[in-house]
Amino acid sequence: MAVQAVRQESKKTIDNKVLGILSSGQAEAWSAEEILGWGIKYFSPNLVLSCSFGAREGMVLFDMMHRIDPATRVFTLDTGRIPQPTYDLMDRVRDRYGTRVEVVFPRADDVEQLVSDDGLNGFYETIEKRQRCCRVRKVEPLERYLAGVDAWVSGLRREQNVTRSHVSKIEIDESHGGIVKLNPIADWTTDRVLEYIREHKVAINRLHGEGYPSVGCAPCSRAVGPDDDPRSGRWWWENSETRECGIHVDEEDQGSGI
Ligand code: SF4
Repeated sequence: MAVQAVRQESKKTIDNKVLGILSSGQAEAWSAEEILGWGIKYFSPNLVLSCSFGAREGMVLFDMMHRIDPATRVFTLDTGRIPQPTYDLMDRVRDRYGTRVEVVFPRADDVEQLVSDDGLNGFYETIEKRQRCCRVRKVEPLERYLAGVDAWVSGLRREQNVTRSHVSKIEIDESHGGIVKLNPIADWTTDRVLEYIREHKVAINRLHGEGYPSVGCAPCSRAVGPDDDPRSGRWWWENSETRECGIHVDEEDQGSGI
């Protein structure tokens, strides 16, 4: 089924049952599988997993969701700047799980304008240019895609960054039209993520094995040393306060990007 056709079937009103679960905070005691099971039961087929194929967390969640429901939906943003190992992993997932990955691209005319104005790698010059690039290649496509679903799943973990320490397991995503956002592994540690990958033989991006804590766009991701802050592998030329991307935080707070 075409991505657009799937989107047009969606839009479920958040009812009092969901609001009750949110306000009670009871979901904080639920396991990742319980969060996903609830989300699949309540929102499927209009629940989607956001997976960059460049973070271990997304692959863990994909594996977990697929075990609960093989018809689970997964989408990714192809910014036009992602590295080959990320495409390779995407193809492995298609082969291994038989899953059709929904790939969302930026608007061609926006990319043409961006590159004409700022050059291909203008994002290294100023924060504003980096935020504009992230906005065109990631934030706008994400907003456009999420406008057609009822709920999405992300691999955010509280441990990852101070800006993520407040993340709830189920929340209303006000920056994307008030849809529901599930963060099933919000309370997981890095060790637990690695343990799940080992136990279930989850395929991951091969660049992790070369020192990349996460893999985003090729020009904005790099390997780090074992004692370095993992976030220093992304947008390392900026200071840490500006490094979030806008996909998981309000643009007013942090600018844009994944
Ligand atoms: S991560 Fe880098 S290349 Fe990718 S959209 Fe943001 S600024 Fe552009």
